[in-house]
Amino acid sequence: MEFERERKKLVNNLVSFGVLRTKRIIEAFLKIPRHLFVTKDQLPYAYVDVALPTLKNSTISQPSTVAIMTEALQPKEGDKILEVGTGSGWQAAILSYCVGENGRVITIEIDKDLVEFARKNLKKVGIKNVKVIHGDGGLGYEKEAPYDGCIITAACPRIPPPIIKQTKVNGRIVAPIGTAWEQRVILAVKEKYGKLKKIDLGAFVFVPMRGSYGFSGAGRI
Ligand code: SAH
Repeated sequence: MEFERERKKLVNNLVSFGVLRTKRIIEAFLKIPRHLFVTKDQLPYAYVDVALPTLKNSTISQPSTVAIMTEALQPKEGDKILEVGTGSGWQAAILSYCVGENGRVITIEIDKDLVEFARKNLKKVGIKNVKVIHGDGGLGYEKEAPYDGCIITAACPRIPPPIIKQTKVNGRIVAPIGTAWEQRVILAVKEKYGKLKKIDLGAFVFVPMRGSYGFSGAGRI
């Protein structure tokens, strides 16, 4: 299969660095073809461990970043996961494999062109358990709540309260929190009464979140 050797090499590296650890997540990285989620001009770099530009201000996240965030989220078979910031749809596709046929991924993208781009990419791979919603992900997606886990793939000043509310007790939230220029990826486990137990996973740089809970949104503070 096309690019299979490059993909295996990338995954082997992520495993040997200790970034990828969980069997099902490793399988997801081996099964989901990242080159089907990049634009044509970026094809030669599809299996290099870097973020790549896609359309407009969006990027497809760096493989090691997706690995770290997915390992932190620990999606299980049958889970319902919410993603904010669909972009190319690649992270959603990785989650789709992890939750399996009985699980679902709801992913929200604010830009209409990217919604179309992601839907097209997911269709190419034959993925059926991902629903791409056009909207402001900071508000979550009440209609399908509660979620077993939530992942935010755009930088935000704080975890948007609607996301915390829509996550189940003992559910995990993984999100890049900070300024528009630099963020720390935080793993937050929701305890009883909505209290969060947080772990800092290090410094990263993401595309800033727009909308109500973005850096100039009404709900930023
Ligand atoms: N997860 C993606 C990468 C996302 S880049 C992947 O696997 O390729 C961040 C994305 O968040 C961009 O596409 C941007 O348009 C989107 N975004 C920014 N603010 C948003 C918001 N409030 N709601 C939903 N999506 C948002």
